[in-house]
Amino acid sequence: MKGLFPVERLERLQTPFYYYDTELLRQTLRAINEEAGKHEHFVVHYAVKANANPKVLRYIREAGLGADCVSGGEIEASLKAGFPASKIVFAGVGKSDWEINIGLDNDIFCFNVESIPELEVINALAEAKGKVARVAFRLNPNVGAHTHANITTGLAENKFGIAMNDMMTVIEKASELKNVKCVGLHFHIGSQILDMSDFEALCNRVNDLQKELERHRIMVEHINVGGGLGVDYQHPNRVSIPDFKAYFNTYAKKLKLRPGQTLHFELGRAVVAQCGSLFTRTLFIKEGAVKKFAIVDAGFTDLIRPALYQAYHKIENVSSDLPTETYDVVGPICESTDVFAKQIDLNGTRRGDLLAIRSAGAYGEIMASQYNLRRLPQAYLSDEIV
Ligand SMILES: *Cc1c(COP(=O)(O)O)cnc(C)c1O
Repeated sequence: MKGLFPVERLERLQTPFYYYDTELLRQTLRAINEEAGKHEHFVVHYAVKANANPKVLRYIREAGLGADCVSGGEIEASLKAGFPASKIVFAGVGKSDWEINIGLDNDIFCFNVESIPELEVINALAEAKGKVARVAFRLNPNVGAHTHANITTGLAENKFGIAMNDMMTVIEKASELKNVKCVGLHFHIGSQILDMSDFEALCNRVNDLQKELERHRIMVEHINVGGGLGVDYQHPNRVSIPDFKAYFNTYAKKLKLRPGQTLHFELGRAVVAQCGSLFTRTLFIKEGAVKKFAIVDAGFTDLIRPALYQAYHKIENVSSDLPTETYDVVGPICESTDVFAKQIDLNGTRRGDLLAIRSAGAYGEIMASQYNLRRLPQAYLSDEIV
């Protein structure tokens, strides 16, 4: 296991830092292209919010994926990384005028619209520029994903999307407006989904909605089913590449595309999670009254997922071959939630040992903050330090 990392070189770097295995990222992108490529009319975008490290973005752009953005900043970062505007989609429940204008100025592929007031603002801003904005409507399919409550997005109670019953109303509204053109429907049911039947439920919903569209003699060019494919946080070594075959096959089998339609995907976590690890150094071993704490120099300012979603990340001591002992691995931040793991087994851990917090490539570095006036973590790609 330690063979995975160039430990001697990593030992010399200032901690905490993110380390991205570029070979694994490449293999993951190859698997995506291979599996999606088996299905005609499948187009894959990368959800930039998962990880916007400029070097990581460049690898993903080079593999030919499009970019799914949720802010003006992400559109700018994507353009800078070389994504063509024609492959950029812009989603989000609250788009500011300046963000919409960036999209319009660059002629991005599509705005994923989440309400009629937003549609009207996009129309007005496009009119002021003498342009016609391509839009897709994000519908809330009221499909539950069997994942953490904080990361389901496709239930009627969530803030995202337009109610299915309003689909015809918004499409008719768009047809009345001169500076928007409806080109598609958009969906996204949640994140870290490993049960393919959740995606099947979405397919069934899309099929029903398409039938309704047909009754009104409406054809949209693009169906976008969002992202959400999960990764194996328990086994980052054994299952380092998600099951893209099963994922794309589910859609190929269950979603009935009409002739000429394109099916878009927006994968975030599944692309980048497994290639990233957060490296942190052990500061102190504290023998508490009832347990032993490994106090490390990374905290939730570097990786917030355990504190925010009670997320599990596998942790390894890459400096030690000693017999295992049981620890709580905790950070230095003045909050009780600053805990990476409770009661886990690590090789006997001493001050100075380097720990790898695995599967941290998605929603890790990008969510870092400076709370407690901490420094932001550095990031290295494996091809930079080998
Ligand atoms: C977050 C998000 C994604 C990516 O989700 P993952 O679970 O990381 O694949 C895709 N589409 C939209 C609209 C999102 O908000």
